[in-house]
Amino acid sequence: MKLFEKSKDLSKLSYDQVKSLAVKCSKCPLSEGRTNVVFGHGPVPCKLMLIGEGPGEQEDLQGLPFVGRAGQLLTKILESVGIEREKDIYITNIVKCRPPGNRAPLSTETESCYPYLEAQIRLVAPKIILLAGSPSTKVVLKINEPMSKIRGKWHKLPGTEISVMPIFHPSYLLRNPTKTKGSPKWHTWQDMQEVKHALEYLVKVEELSGGEK
Ligand code: URA
Repeated sequence: MKLFEKSKDLSKLSYDQVKSLAVKCSKCPLSEGRTNVVFGHGPVPCKLMLIGEGPGEQEDLQGLPFVGRAGQLLTKILESVGIEREKDIYITNIVKCRPPGNRAPLSTETESCYPYLEAQIRLVAPKIILLAGSPSTKVVLKINEPMSKIRGKWHKLPGTEISVMPIFHPSYLLRNPTKTKGSPKWHTWQDMQEVKHALEYLVKVEELSGGEK
C-alpha cells in the first residue's frame, strides 16, 4: 500500500515510542479536527484487547477510548462477566482521531492509522481480540458481512495464533436495548460469556505449563 511506504517502520519501537508518534500524527485529515489523539488504554501486555471504530465526542475531549455512553455500556457488559476494565482489557480503535459528526472512518483514514494498530497488537500481545462492530471487523479480518451473521464466531488473526471474535458495537446495543432471547443484547451476553470462558481456559493452561505465557 502506497500510504505505508512513507510510514516509519514501527516494528522496533516500544509502546511509549509508538504512542509518542501517534499523538503528533498528521497523516490524515482527521488530525485537523481533533482535540486529543485517542491512542488506547489498558495494561500492556494484556491477554484481551478490544478494537472499536473511532473516538466520539467524549473520547476526543478526554483522550480516552470508550468513555461516552457506549463506553459506559461496554464497562457494564465487561463487568457482567467479571472482566475489569482497568485490569483485564486493553481498548483501542481503528482510527485514533474523531471522525467529524461521528461518521464511520474512511478507508484512507483507517489505512493511515493501521500501522499504529498493528504496533499496538504486537506490543499488547493479546491472546484474544474483540472487534466491536463492522468497521473494525472489516479492517482487521477483511470481512464485510452483517454483524448479525458474523458476531460470536471465532477467527484467527491472519498469520498469528491470536483468536478474534466480532461482537456487536455497544452503540448498536444502545439503539437496540431489548434483552429478550435472540436480541443483539442477549447475543452479546452469550458472546461475552464465551470470551470469559476462553480467558479462564488460557489462564488454566498457563498455570499447568508452569506460568509460561
Ligand atoms: N465508539 C467507538 O468505536 N470507540 C470509542 O472509543 C467510543 C465510541
